[in-house]
Amino acid sequence: MALADVLDAAKALHAQVPALRTFAPWPDDLVHQPLEPNPAPAMAHLRQDPARAAAEAQAYVDAVKAAADRCDWRITYSQDEVGDAFVSRYAWFELVGPTGHYHSDALRVAFAYWGPHLTYPLHSHEAEEVYYVAAGRAAFWTDDQPAHWVEAGSHQTHASYEPHGFRTGDEGLLTLILWRGPGMGGRATLTTPCPHPTETGAQR
Ligand code: ZN
Repeated sequence: MALADVLDAAKALHAQVPALRTFAPWPDDLVHQPLEPNPAPAMAHLRQDPARAAAEAQAYVDAVKAAADRCDWRITYSQDEVGDAFVSRYAWFELVGPTGHYHSDALRVAFAYWGPHLTYPLHSHEAEEVYYVAAGRAAFWTDDQPAHWVEAGSHQTHASYEPHGFRTGDEGLLTLILWRGPGMGGRATLTTPCPHPTETGAQR
């Protein structure tokens, strides 16, 4: 499987899910970029994660797992920021976007994975965002919204600079994330200091 298969599956999923296609149209300015693969420790966890996919997202999840060796995996945070468990069981890659496998100035499309029992502390970014849960689940919260589980096939949106966080439970979280607008090529930063490792026994 190649990244082209991931792109096809992501495009098909975007077309099928109203929350994704109404957030932004699929970009028509894509140019393939020959990015070198960049492995991440989370790949091994991803391949073995039994989290069940939404029916509509199964092909996307299968394509990502099969192409994992070819992806330019990234880890936004340092171990000091989020702890060892987090940086070893989380990773993402930019499929489409300003620095992605397929260049676009119109939209960022990322796959991101978090293993079981991780807490992503409150963070924010300029770009507007939609998280689509392709497989697994997570409990999301914001300043205004108490923690609530978002299941496979559902989504969570965040406004520009809206602080948000989540934790995973007994299964991992496999996502398709869209970023649009100013800051689309930027990064997220933690909004609260997090001096200690954040692994917790998440409750369901
Ligand atoms: Zn976000």
